[in-house]
Amino acid sequence: MQLGQDRELDALRKRVRELAAQYAPPRHPRTGVRAPEPEQIPALRKWTAVLFGEQLLGVNWPVEYGGLENPHPLHEKVVTDELVRIGAAGPVGGGLLAGAAIVASGTKEQKDYFLPRIRSGEHIWCQLFSEPEAGSDLAGLRTRARREGGEFVVDGQKVWTTNAHHADWGYLLARTDPDAPKHAGITAFALDMRTPGVTVRPLREITGTADFNEVFLDGVRIPADRVIGKVNEGWAVTTASLALERSSAGSGASLFGALNRLARLAGQVTRDGRPAIERDDVRQAIGGFAAEVYVNALVSAYGDSRALHGSGDVADAPVSKILFSQINLALHEYGMQLQGHDGVRIEGDAKVHDDGWWQDAFLYGRAFTIAGGTNEVLRNLIAERALGLPR
Ligand SMILES: Cc1cc2nc3c(=O)[nH]c(=O)nc-3n(C[C@H](O)[C@H](O)[C@H](O)COP(=O)(O)OP(=O)(O)OC[C@H]3O[C@@H](n4cnc5c(N)ncnc54)[C@H](O)[C@@H]3O)c2cc1C
Repeated sequence: MQLGQDRELDALRKRVRELAAQYAPPRHPRTGVRAPEPEQIPALRKWTAVLFGEQLLGVNWPVEYGGLENPHPLHEKVVTDELVRIGAAGPVGGGLLAGAAIVASGTKEQKDYFLPRIRSGEHIWCQLFSEPEAGSDLAGLRTRARREGGEFVVDGQKVWTTNAHHADWGYLLARTDPDAPKHAGITAFALDMRTPGVTVRPLREITGTADFNEVFLDGVRIPADRVIGKVNEGWAVTTASLALERSSAGSGASLFGALNRLARLAGQVTRDGRPAIERDDVRQAIGGFAAEVYVNALVSAYGDSRALHGSGDVADAPVSKILFSQINLALHEYGMQLQGHDGVRIEGDAKVHDDGWWQDAFLYGRAFTIAGGTNEVLRNLIAERALGLPR
């Protein structure tokens, strides 16, 4: 593979664009990974079925469950990046993450039941991992699952659950052995979100939307055959999906579009009665962002190339993700600065630039510094595991 260029992958990107033009439902031009509005769900289920049915996604699954014989190792990453780059919706919910766990650790019955329904868009999944006292320190989770005959009874609380208000199924982590060491004693479950005792409460965020939820679990009964993997061995199950989440964060596919918007904005707003783009300092700043966006793309392609050749480093994905989220935040902060007092206008205001896109991106930009491992935790990881520094 040449850095950032590959005929097979270029053809794949083209197919993504063609299919998106034909089938992708219109999307509110919000930034980031957002939960859809309820009325968008039926169209998104259909779009999800197209993405899996056309073998753009789920290609690493076994062939009998729709996977490809010999998929290109970067196939799914390229598809996901291209969707982000063109601003099209991805598959609805966390089916890819739950699917990865079921493929790696599920029973045949679970694979037969769940995988086709993820592919068809019939089942929307959410990921019930984080808790009020367990985010970065996920292994500290306290939600309990007690065995009672052929069932587990679950009590606890989850938080920041994207799409829980739309989800049919939850990929749940709960503690089954409170006496075991922290990473042991955790079990993964498939939870039917309509089970009595599951309460989903949306959380309104700084952006004004409600992408996340609190999920309360009170005496929730889960049949024992919905354990994914082995009882008390859920930590190993999660590593399959967490690795997928980390590798998909931070490729920076959205940054080139943001850079173009910034240049356009600088031509629209004025400073001292003249277009801001005519000022040296503004052109310097935009040139600086352009350099950073290119560096980010190259670092990401370099990581891909190393992974392809089996010479990947533990620091590759964290470095890419930190770089992307910092550039993304700084670029959108600058876009807000350029607007001066008009920066306080929001979507719906007749005078707001780009329909309020900047304000949304500026506020949402913080989420990328948190999701998929916070930047602080990833810096620790680089320091300890890649550089061998003391803890
Ligand atoms: C867009 C988005 C989508 C999400 N979707 C989901 C979802 O669907 N399901 C789900 O379960 N969760 C989801 N999350 C939650 C996410 O996994 C957590 O926010 C993340 O793990 C951090 O946990 P926390 O928020 O509890 O922060 P904490 O872990 O409490 O961290 C608070 C602060 O302390 C810092 N910190 C923590 N530990 C250390 C350390 N050892 N060294 C230095 N600094 C440290 C952190 O960097 C952070 O700044 C989502 C989050 C985002 C932003």
